[in-house]
Amino acid sequence: MSREERKLRKHIEAHARRELRKALSKARVKDSKPPRERVNINEEEVDNVPSPKRNRIATVRESVLSPGFVAETGPGFCDVLCGSERIRCRHSVDVAIGDQVLFSPTRRRIEQILPRRTALSRADPHNPHLERVIAANVDVVVNVVSLKTPPLRPGLIDRYLIAIGKSGAEPLICANKVDLLISPEELDPLRPYQDAGIPVILCSAATGAGLDSLSAALAGKLCVFAGHSGVGKSSLLNALDPRLDIATGTVSEGNEKGRHTTTSSALYRLPNGATVIDTPGIREFGLWDVAPADLRRYYQEFGACRCAFSDCTHTHEPECGVKEALERGVISKPRYESYLRIFNSEK
Ligand code: GDP
Ligand code: ZN
Repeated sequence: MSREERKLRKHIEAHARRELRKALSKARVKDSKPPRERVNINEEEVDNVPSPKRNRIATVRESVLSPGFVAETGPGFCDVLCGSERIRCRHSVDVAIGDQVLFSPTRRRIEQILPRRTALSRADPHNPHLERVIAANVDVVVNVVSLKTPPLRPGLIDRYLIAIGKSGAEPLICANKVDLLISPEELDPLRPYQDAGIPVILCSAATGAGLDSLSAALAGKLCVFAGHSGVGKSSLLNALDPRLDIATGTVSEGNEKGRHTTTSSALYRLPNGATVIDTPGIREFGLWDVAPADLRRYYQEFGACRCAFSDCTHTHEPECGVKEALERGVISKPRYESYLRIFNSEK
């Protein structure tokens, strides 16, 4: 190689390194320091490029992917955590909060979503043929409800429980605002869930009642708070860690429906090691990909009943163990009625 060629090669390599550094620093959050190892690896790869040709270097740049964790999704963007960095990437339709991904820090693009352990999904409210993954890889889905203001909606709880059953995560019902209750009978609508073996925690973000039990149930896990708007999801998070200072809404007196204070999902780390995804409040929950014939497996209390037909849908068949248990009062009437309603609506 002539002296001129060597000079040219050195010049091109130095230029490539400068470009790569520029692209990497753009991808970093302004005030956070780059993780040393990753930058070194990238630079080594460029140093080892055998040819000075720019297109070869470009290929190396593209191939450098980092593992990350999706901590927020919003209109047109998603934030990926990688070590101590938080990198804003272009939105990708399939990505959900909680996803483990491989992404390109230079192109700020998610290249691959790693297989999900669990996925809580619903049908898109505007297009029921589209799946919306509310959160991925969560251990526990906390369905936050209130018995009063806004009033309890057992049909919505049942839909959540079906979606949670399908997601592969553990269910937990957190009944907030117990400070508003006057008599213990007001807790009766929660009994069928307790009887079916679903954990129910009674608490109040306002008085602090039950927060120790809630904190213990979440400790060290990836959790999602989901439920009707106005039930106190954000208030509970603030009560578990006052430093979070999340904006909360009010429940308008006229229709007792919560305002949609939280508009996109966000992720919070609690002092007890829990990571909680707070989701926007919803009013309706469209089930995703649950065939009517599969519905029965998400009603845990039906499991112990024996029917004459192994594929009994517990609707019209004779010698149905579920209907017999219903008559004996072993299965709750509101739960069975909600099963029928959902069965007929999903047909
Ligand atoms: P979100 O939409 O589920 O996040 O609900 P917010 O946390 O924004 O709370 C809605 C309203 O309920 C706010 O006015 C809160 O102050 C109120 N709230 C939340 N938790 C409690 C509680 O335990 N008791 C009472 N009385 N009010 C509460
Ligand atoms: Zn049956």
